[in-house]
Amino acid sequence: MVKSVHSPVDLIGGGLAGSEAAWQLARRGHRVRLFEMRPVKNTPAHQSDKLAELVCSNSFRGADLKNAVGLLKEEMRLLDSLILRAADRHRIPGGGALVMDREGFSQEVTTAILNEPNIEVVRQEVSSLEPWLKNHKDIEKPLLIATGPLTSDSLAQELAALTGQDSLYFYDSIAPIVAADSIDRTKVFRASRYDKGTPDYLNCPLNREEYEALVAALQQAEKMPTKDFEAPKYFEACLPIEVLAERGVRSLSFGPMKPVGLIDPNTGRRPYAVVQLRQDDLHASLYNLVGFQTRMKYPDQVRIFRTIPGLENAEFVRLGSMHRNTFINAPKVLTPDLELKDHPGIFLAGQMIGVEGYVESAAMGLYAGLVISQRLRAKNLQPPPANTALGALVRHLTAASTRGFQPMNVNFGLFELPMGMQRKEQRGMVSELALECMKNFAEENSLGTVHVEDHFPQMVSS
Ligand SMILES: Cc1cc2nc3c(=O)[nH]c(=O)nc-3n(C[C@H](O)[C@H](O)[C@H](O)COP(=O)(O)OP(=O)(O)OC[C@H]3O[C@@H](n4cnc5c(N)ncnc54)[C@H](O)[C@@H]3O)c2cc1C
Repeated sequence: MVKSVHSPVDLIGGGLAGSEAAWQLARRGHRVRLFEMRPVKNTPAHQSDKLAELVCSNSFRGADLKNAVGLLKEEMRLLDSLILRAADRHRIPGGGALVMDREGFSQEVTTAILNEPNIEVVRQEVSSLEPWLKNHKDIEKPLLIATGPLTSDSLAQELAALTGQDSLYFYDSIAPIVAADSIDRTKVFRASRYDKGTPDYLNCPLNREEYEALVAALQQAEKMPTKDFEAPKYFEACLPIEVLAERGVRSLSFGPMKPVGLIDPNTGRRPYAVVQLRQDDLHASLYNLVGFQTRMKYPDQVRIFRTIPGLENAEFVRLGSMHRNTFINAPKVLTPDLELKDHPGIFLAGQMIGVEGYVESAAMGLYAGLVISQRLRAKNLQPPPANTALGALVRHLTAASTRGFQPMNVNFGLFELPMGMQRKEQRGMVSELALECMKNFAEENSLGTVHVEDHFPQMVSS
């Protein structure tokens, strides 16, 4: 337990949101004490002591501006995001997506934070909020909690008590990773759907018989048991592969295994279904099975995934697994500043406030850092306009219905879209306007005045 609070800003959690928030605060001249429990105590998914570790996929999803997450990333670049700078620097081929070498990315963020003189990293689990609660009326000492979907149990209990509600749970599942040299290259082919971007995916083609046998095996596989305290509520975009298979024989061939836009050069025809493999590291020595997050037992995973053409002799360097996801009912308990309504001075950010995804979590860390910085300068930061991706997310978190509130990826459904236009044209226009508004927002609030190269010359020079 932390005995005393000395530093101007205390921050709990050195993940994507916490690292970004710490950076934004430090580069604006605020001292930050960042508590990260790893490696002293681990989570069920993290594997290293690095800050901003990517726990599953190594993708920040679509890079295109006609895509809401592409727009959010561009807005974050305008606000000098550390997470985006590190991602851009460690980009590896990934078709139309921003895909990173996971080791290089996390190391870059860790080095930046450790080299930043305004940040002190304390490797310690925070299990009680008592030291801050005594001080919470004192805005000189704000606290930001960004402990993510795998917040340690003791802190989760404290938060549940503080917010007056029980935490909500659902499952996310990790997709398996195979060694590249164990893939049979005579059976798989390299392509991106509809030849979009560069042909960065390895595609394992299945005929109808192979596909139906795979679905049957997934349906019958042995699953990990569910713990009593966890109700199996899944986020639709991250369903375990076997749950999708249980929904019907064709649900996979219309979902992650859809063969559209792909021709197998060995047959000259579109396969009945495909399993796509995505590069996972800089040297292309590892590939993950796209969309194959799972909670099947390990022996069944190996047995079943080796029936996929090309993976008969696959070496699995990581198998899929399932994890709890903790998040709060943001519209009920948070102000638009991401501050607890009943506990001024305590801010929350990241996945735990009900956004979904690496980029969205980092974006909320960025925004919380800006809000706290302005507050410490006795200024108020109005949320970014709701026609920006960042503003649309903040509005969703604080204005959505409190009943059945669910985590959300950024998407154009959160925007007010101009009517009577083609989809592509409409999105292009929305993105253009959003970036213009974000530039104005940064200028009006003097957010772009600190030069990153002063703090991180090696990033800028490369
Ligand atoms: C298993 C799993 C797989 C996921 N896969 C993906 C994916 O493929 N793509 C995607 O976009 N999103 C994915 N997500 C969702 C989400 O984007 C990530 O969890 C993301 O890392 C969230 O960022 P964060 O900063 O909120 O939390 P995290 O990155 O998890 O950071 C929280 C940090 O807080 C620390 N911490 C926790 N409790 C304490 C404590 N009491 N004291 C001190 N430190 C503490 C943790 O060690 C961790 O470093 C996944 C989530 C899970 C759980």
